Amino acid sequence: METIRCLILGSGPAGYTAAIYAARAGLAPVIYEGLQPGGQLTTTTDVDNFPGYPQGVEGNQMMEDMREQAERFGTEIRPAIAVKADLSAAPYTLTFDDGSQVQCQTLIIATGATAKYLGLADEEKYKGQGVSACATCDGFFYRKKNVAVVGGGDTACEEASYLAGLAAKVYLIVRKPFLRASKAMQEKVMTNPKIEILFETNTEGLFGTDGVEGAHVVYRRGLPDERHYDIAIDGFFLAIGHHPNSELFMPWVKTDESGYILTEGATPRTGVPGVFAAGDVADPHYRQAITAAASGCKAAIEAERYLSEHGL
Ligand code: NDP
Repeated sequence: METIRCLILGSGPAGYTAAIYAARAGLAPVIYEGLQPGGQLTTTTDVDNFPGYPQGVEGNQMMEDMREQAERFGTEIRPAIAVKADLSAAPYTLTFDDGSQVQCQTLIIATGATAKYLGLADEEKYKGQGVSACATCDGFFYRKKNVAVVGGGDTACEEASYLAGLAAKVYLIVRKPFLRASKAMQEKVMTNPKIEILFETNTEGLFGTDGVEGAHVVYRRGLPDERHYDIAIDGFFLAIGHHPNSELFMPWVKTDESGYILTEGATPRTGVPGVFAAGDVADPHYRQAITAAASGCKAAIEAERYLSEHGL
């Protein structure tokens, strides 16, 4: 079986940065791109807070740039998705969705996080037919239509603002009586005449014969003035946070109660020798491209040290 010195799972800012450092250190890294090549930034619009891009940069472009930089130093990029991991003894064995298996001396887990859904049966029913967790991917289909975005964080506000540029009207469905987003984002949605914020509101279901035509919502559920009503929408966008893609590694590494991989102190070490975690899969707090990139860098430096300490 092929043995890779430094195997990186995931191709977001953490994975690519790890690859750039590992390749430059001569570790011949191999990246497996995973479920979403380029990671979550490929589903965003402009990135304005990554240093080095004074005019901002489109998310896809930034990931293309990172990929090119990783390849420039000899990173090999493979398209498969890991489906099984055996971290019981080094070298570790990974199995992929194309049936292939490889071993690795060091592993950098940079598998990121995936959008959460509310858990309504109707979300499944209308997935791809009006239900989406990515406004920038699917917003185009809702030009001059009515849509709803669920959530009150920065993502929800960002998505609502983006959709307001395309759609006729955007409902922002927020379960609390306030937004959790940063002040700047709050200001943006509150001053946009196309966005109507439905505070203290939850979604109970969706309806429509040929795709989504509306949502059943409830205002102040469980309280004396509880009120059930419907809103007419063609698109229903989830922006209620993410869950870490750590399931494969659960038997071997420690995680917190939400599944985020726990690392040792400020290092990316997982506790399994030679296995490191970087980016959103291990970060419930910051979840920024720049923090993911930084942890990818640390993971590659750790991998290099581990290999040299073990004479590998
Ligand atoms: P957050 O966890 O910050 O917010 C999630 C939102 O969804 C909250 O309003 C939460 O409500 C709501 N929610 C969660 N579960 C449900 C549910 N079952 N039903 C209804 N509503 C629900 O996630 P984000 O994705 O918005 O942001 C993640 C991180 O990324 C944050 O740190 C954020 O600051 C950052 N970010 C930064 C950006 C930027 O700097 N430009 C852009 C986007 C994200 P409640 O408040 O009631 O818990």
